[in-house]
Amino acid sequence: MISVSPTRRCPCGSGRRYKRCCMPWHSGRPAPTPEALMRSRYSAYALGQVEHVMATTHPESPHRVADPQRWTSELSAFCRGTRFRKLDVIDHSEDGDAGTVTFRATLEQAGRDASFTERSRFRRLGGRWLYLDGDRLDG
Ligand SMILES: [Zn+2]
Repeated sequence: MISVSPTRRCPCGSGRRYKRCCMPWHSGRPAPTPEALMRSRYSAYALGQVEHVMATTHPESPHRVADPQRWTSELSAFCRGTRFRKLDVIDHSEDGDAGTVTFRATLEQAGRDASFTERSRFRRLGGRWLYLDGDRLDG
């Protein structure tokens, strides 16, 4: 896990300090919008905070891995092997307990571009926004 000072800029690229951006959601407070959750998941990946990624994945998501140890090691390996260059949120919407966020993640793996654009779906469950699934639009 990579530590970031609370006063440094948040890895999600909002331009805000970490403590005023994704840090509260990483500490367990519910993100108020699908966009805030999506940003917090990106910055969690960038920081190797895989617990946050797991905790914010919907129980019915196809991306869940049944064995938590295996899931942790898979996510950790992905985080270690990836440079998280940039996040651009292209579009977001919210309708009741459903939301979508379209974003472009600029990533690099083993010196190669691994960027992609995704339209992610989020659902609110028990007052918390959770990641359900997404469609790759390219990459
Ligand atoms: Zn952030």
